Amino acid sequence: MNIILLGAPGAGKGTQATRISDKFGLPHISTGDIFRDNIKRGTEIGLLAKSYTDKGQLVPDEVTCKIVEGRLAEADCKGGYLLDGFPRNLFQAQELDKFSKVDAVINIDVDLSLLMARLCGRRVCKSCGESYHVDFLGGKTTCERCGGELYQRKDDNEETVGNRLQVYTEQTQPLIDYYSKKGVLLNIDGVGAIDEVFARICAALKK
Ligand code: ADP
Ligand code: AMP
Repeated sequence: MNIILLGAPGAGKGTQATRISDKFGLPHISTGDIFRDNIKRGTEIGLLAKSYTDKGQLVPDEVTCKIVEGRLAEADCKGGYLLDGFPRNLFQAQELDKFSKVDAVINIDVDLSLLMARLCGRRVCKSCGESYHVDFLGGKTTCERCGGELYQRKDDNEETVGNRLQVYTEQTQPLIDYYSKKGVLLNIDGVGAIDEVFARICAALKK
């Protein structure tokens, strides 16, 4: 099954992706993770991406679409994939339609007013990528899943989050309508405990 996770920054895509990927055995492909990895390794793509991710703007479509097309052509995607953070605008969605068929789009719906606090308090594991929130860490600085060190993403600050939410509203939100018209949209209430949201996703996918 080819699945897309749609939702605003901080809606819980990464958090749910880990669980969906484990349960259904699908590779989790996050374009944000791909860019962060390239930035860390100082590649040409990383150097280009950094100037956009630091400001909370979208990396140019040609670069992003080429990366995703290449990644989806890899062997582990033959049995399906879970895309997180792509597509993020209409152009990317139309390009994706040219090289792959989307079976389901899970739209994690969270009121935008909740997202600034979620993102500014997010801590991410350097090793496995699991997300946490400082309010629930009780001072812990390592990952519960793998023991890795937790860090705060550079773009999880008030100014950049503000830009990211604006980009989401202007460019990504219209995709809800795009996929709804195609009949593949699954709307999921993203407010509530992480396990509750996961149960809603599993129930929607079963149907
Ligand atoms: P995204 O990948 O959509 O940007 P994340 O999965 O990284 O979002 O989650 C953003 C922040 O919100 C993290 O700090 C995470 O721990 C927290 N979070 C995720 N799901 C929930 C939830 N159901 N309720 C409250 N906080 C959540
Ligand atoms: P994320 O990890 O999904 O929050 O993405 C972090 C940043 O990576 C975004 O703010 C963008 O700068 C960039 N990015 C991730 N996915 C895409 C995409 N599909 N198109 C363009 N830029 C992206």
